[in-house]
Amino acid sequence: MKCPHCKRATSSVVVKTLMAAILVNEQECNVLAYCCPVCGAIISAQADPVALANYIVDEVTEQLQQRPDASQPKRKEAGDKGSREDK
Ligand SMILES: [Zn+2]
Repeated sequence: MKCPHCKRATSSVVVKTLMAAILVNEQECNVLAYCCPVCGAIISAQADPVALANYIVDEVTEQLQQRPDASQPKRKEAGDKGSREDK
């Protein structure tokens, strides 16, 4: 692969962690930046998948713990469709 900035050929990238501000909800998230090992330019960036997965697990766990009734939701009886009474 060629770096789009310095045009040098490279078979590796340097991964750096950055913080990105999410302007909508004024939070920050971890970002991975993939950089050229020759010139250091950022070639690509994405949300840190591990940090994102941990965030989702934490949020879901917190929501489940805040439910007033944490037991299983009641389900409708199965096989109870249109039973006839023969007279
Ligand atoms: Zn470069």
